[in-house]
Amino acid sequence: MHVVVIGAGPAGLAAGRYALAQGFDCTVVERHTAAGGLAATWRRGDFVIEGGVRLLTGVNPGLQAYDLYHDLGLLPGLPLTELSTLCRFLDERTDRAIEISRNMDRLALELRQLSPDDAEHVEDLIRGTKRMGLLDWAKMERPLEIMTTGDRLRQTWRLRHQLRYFGGIFVQPVSALVAKISHPLIKSLLLTLCAPETPLWYLMMLLSTFSHGQKALLTEGSISLVGRMVTSLEEAGGKLETNCCVKEILTEQTAHGDRAVGVRLANEEVLEADYVVSAADAYSTLYEMLHGKYLDSAAKTRFREWKLCRPMIQVSLGVARRFTGETPLKVLMLRRPFFVGETTVENLSLRIFNYAPHFAPPRKTMIQASFETSWSHWNALAEGDRSGYEAEKERVAKEVIRRLELHYPGISRQVELVDVATPYTTWRYTRNLQGANEAWLPIPEVIVSAIPRTLPGLAHLVLAGHWVAPGNGVAGSILSGRHAVQLICHQSQTPFHNIRT
Ligand SMILES: Cc1cc2nc3c(=O)[nH]c(=O)nc-3n(C[C@H](O)[C@H](O)[C@H](O)COP(=O)(O)OP(=O)(O)OC[C@H]3O[C@@H](n4cnc5c(N)ncnc54)[C@H](O)[C@@H]3O)c2cc1C
Repeated sequence: MHVVVIGAGPAGLAAGRYALAQGFDCTVVERHTAAGGLAATWRRGDFVIEGGVRLLTGVNPGLQAYDLYHDLGLLPGLPLTELSTLCRFLDERTDRAIEISRNMDRLALELRQLSPDDAEHVEDLIRGTKRMGLLDWAKMERPLEIMTTGDRLRQTWRLRHQLRYFGGIFVQPVSALVAKISHPLIKSLLLTLCAPETPLWYLMMLLSTFSHGQKALLTEGSISLVGRMVTSLEEAGGKLETNCCVKEILTEQTAHGDRAVGVRLANEEVLEADYVVSAADAYSTLYEMLHGKYLDSAAKTRFREWKLCRPMIQVSLGVARRFTGETPLKVLMLRRPFFVGETTVENLSLRIFNYAPHFAPPRKTMIQASFETSWSHWNALAEGDRSGYEAEKERVAKEVIRRLELHYPGISRQVELVDVATPYTTWRYTRNLQGANEAWLPIPEVIVSAIPRTLPGLAHLVLAGHWVAPGNGVAGSILSGRHAVQLICHQSQTPFHNIRT
């Protein structure tokens, strides 16, 4: 049986590897020149730029993600850097700083000392987080579509102590908690960790996952994760074809409805397949590759009404200096905000690659600043005024460097390389709708909605990737790749085999 997988992001590479474990032939086709999708790393001169994964979740036994990484040959072995501090927040206006420590009691103490007025809400949050323990909310041995009653009972039993987090005050948005907090630094800290619309349990889960040592930096960047996935795929006999853009998913009519039979590439070449997995973004798959033919009203509603994760702009600077002793992840609350389109930039998230010699030559460092920005601003410039687009990127980089000068005097003279990746860049290289980093915003409605991975009226096509498994980053995408192959096995009535490691 031959499976064609569209898209070589984490989901597509995982789907390919699990397909090979079933004894299927598999070709993964990728429109870009390299695999990785949003988990991208690229080189500029002497510097390496990380465009994707900041923190990998599930780096120790206890979460399903760990088992998946193990299946795919990622762990053990993938170079990781553990953090004792998730992030350091600094308010430039008051010079007050706070660190999110792995030790939740220490965090509670710091927050209480910073703002005694907020002590009650802080206590509630930290107590709830500690009580929650490690919540593997996305864990699913099998996709929902083929879960048996036994699977559902086991799932409920596994989550029995944590089910209460999916109701009551825990599904209130983070913004409701933020509204009760008086201290601006704590407000900013909460809103940097999670979008205001996400449920409180999601914020607690994030803190808890970190405090249990389940999040780590990729020491050698996303490329180390993607490279290992590609090696695992190719060593198992799979083919990865880059520079291969799928223009159309081919279908044929049968007595029982339509079924996918292959793909047509941009160069008109046809790849036949018994099953097609699309791990490309959902909009391209449904509206372009399938011409909008297999959309039901629920899918249309998603595109019309659901919010996307807010896109980010990333300014990467290769600088001739070191940042000894700095925490790798920092947030600056700016004394002098600046404007980008209609957005006021009040915070800069910094990532300092002082833990990783891989990203810069000796005695030099890669430092990145990122912040939320609007798709419409960058899209309008890129499509309508290319020189204006480049000029705006340059202006934004200068604004960032000016803000960094306050903390790292002399840095503007030490900058050797500037790379600005806008939401338009993200869209151009990965086709993710409006440059959304992590697909749909993980609000309660999205998380519980179980987005279908098969389409009405079309057999032999399965969807994978973060558009059908939102809210769980790389781990969720990888799991969706496994689920896609489980669905193929179910449809073709063959038993599913895990990857033998
Ligand atoms: C700046 C940034 C920071 C992030 N930080 C984290 C983090 O800290 N932790 C975390 O877990 N996640 C993080 N993420 C999210 C994570 O990278 C994504 O969730 C994950 O990469 C999604 O994988 P995917 O395979 O579902 O989709 P993608 O990575 O988008 O892959 C889809 C692939 O399909 C290809 N494709 C599209 N159309 C076609 C076509 N027509 N033909 C062929 N190929 C096609 C694309 O080129 C792409 O390679 C971050 C993302 C970004 C951008």
